[in-house]
Amino acid sequence: MPLFTTGKEVMERLPHGSDLLEAITTLARLEKIRAGSVSAIGAVQRARIGFYDQKARQYREWDIEEPMEICSCLGNVSLKEGEIFVHAHVTLADSDGRVVGGHLCPGTIVFAAECRITELAGEAPSRSFDETTGLSLW
Ligand code: ZN
Repeated sequence: MPLFTTGKEVMERLPHGSDLLEAITTLARLEKIRAGSVSAIGAVQRARIGFYDQKARQYREWDIEEPMEICSCLGNVSLKEGEIFVHAHVTLADSDGRVVGGHLCPGTIVFAAECRITELAGEAPSRSFDETTGLSLW
């Protein structure tokens, strides 16, 4: 197992109206963070989240067309095809506090979000196709 030490930490407000996944990825790329952990809280104007259907070996994605709180957005930074790549999941709450969650997809639009990325110094994990799951894994 590779060992990591904690590198730099960045905390940023993500732009209003930006795509949440894209904004986190942009931040990681700007800071040249190739391995790390991601957390964010805030609110979104709308969301698109996914569930990996293990039998069909594909993501089912759906849209939520209402403002939601980001109770938790957790993810990681690693490399995919040599590029800095963010994988994140979200737990979102509606105006009644009901919670849904899943794989964070493009199409989740930031109302306000505070993001923290902790860099892990060491050789960055690289993703490649995994036959067993059909996923791109370390
Ligand atoms: Zn996922």
